[in-house]
Amino acid sequence: MLGIDVKVDGYERVIHIEHEESGLDAFITIHNTKLGSAIGGIRCHNYDSPEAQLKDALRLSEGMTLKTAAAGLKHGGGKTVINKSKIKDRRLAYQMLGLEVDALDGSYICAGDVGTMIEDLFRINDSTKYVAGISLDSSLPTAFSTHTSIKALLKRDGLKMQDQTFTVQGLGKVGKHLVKMLKGNIEAYDPFVSDLKGVTHIDESKILQGEFYVPCALGGVINGFSLTSMKSKYVCGSANNIFDTRDNIITAHNMGIKYVPDFITNCGGVVAVTLDYDKKDYKSALTTTLAKRINTILDISKDENIPAQHAAERLANDRLK
Ligand code: NAD
Repeated sequence: MLGIDVKVDGYERVIHIEHEESGLDAFITIHNTKLGSAIGGIRCHNYDSPEAQLKDALRLSEGMTLKTAAAGLKHGGGKTVINKSKIKDRRLAYQMLGLEVDALDGSYICAGDVGTMIEDLFRINDSTKYVAGISLDSSLPTAFSTHTSIKALLKRDGLKMQDQTFTVQGLGKVGKHLVKMLKGNIEAYDPFVSDLKGVTHIDESKILQGEFYVPCALGGVINGFSLTSMKSKYVCGSANNIFDTRDNIITAHNMGIKYVPDFITNCGGVVAVTLDYDKKDYKSALTTTLAKRINTILDISKDENIPAQHAAERLANDRLK
């Protein structure tokens, strides 16, 4: 095999893979398999250094452990990160990666992520059966879990979806599915989409000025700067890392902003891909079961006066003890 084990504290396995002919340069990181085999996508991105690439892989695989635990899955967290800039023969690179995944004997199941296309997953599948999400577009179940989260948040305050105005940031794969599911008024900002039917297109400066903000683009929009002028009372969308820093989570809590933590809201993709791989249906996991979990998290947050993000992290970590 091509991989060399790298010792990293707190991680079960970290493997660095280099293959001269294809230009494959990848890290597979298995963070935690306490709940079951690790699952996590393959990110293919340009990195300036192996250190930056490894850092990303470690951060993302740890995040997957939290996400799978919080979602109640019997899987742990892992990730693969490929340095895109080094690839010479993409087809061969993904086939070689598939061989490495296969050699792990099911302790890690890979899937798609930013920069990895469905054709790449087919090349992985040439070499291994340990690949999930080939027959499924994860953006639809992600929109589905986001819809459930918005509904649960509103229901707790006795509000109806049809009476709300939602301010959606980002009309990409998830955002477009979501606006079809939402009832009520929808206003949205996306620099590349300005003609979506049923949506009032607004200026970027207005995204945090409406009552209900739905981030479906980038993370970090809620930060020290934006919090000073933010008017939105509710926040719930698919974007990862909606709060820029841990301090921003506390400030938002003290301001009374109501939200469902991002890794709970956007769990639909990983839940659907995982359950589909395990040959199980995922519908109820993203409706009734998810709504129940959200209520547990928000009850803890309210009863103990702690940020919902902290309550969700604690529940996930409890499963890992
Ligand atoms: P996408 O790339 O298809 O769509 C993102 C959209 O955001 C694009 O249309 C882009 O033009 C727009 N955008 C970029 N910068 C913007 C800005 N400053 N303001 C407003 N719009 C902007 O991505 P996606 O798959 O729809 O994912 C959306 C978010 O959900 C991402 O944060 C992603 O990490 C997260 N997420 C997605 C999935 C999934 O299965 N697709 C799963 C979990 C989390």
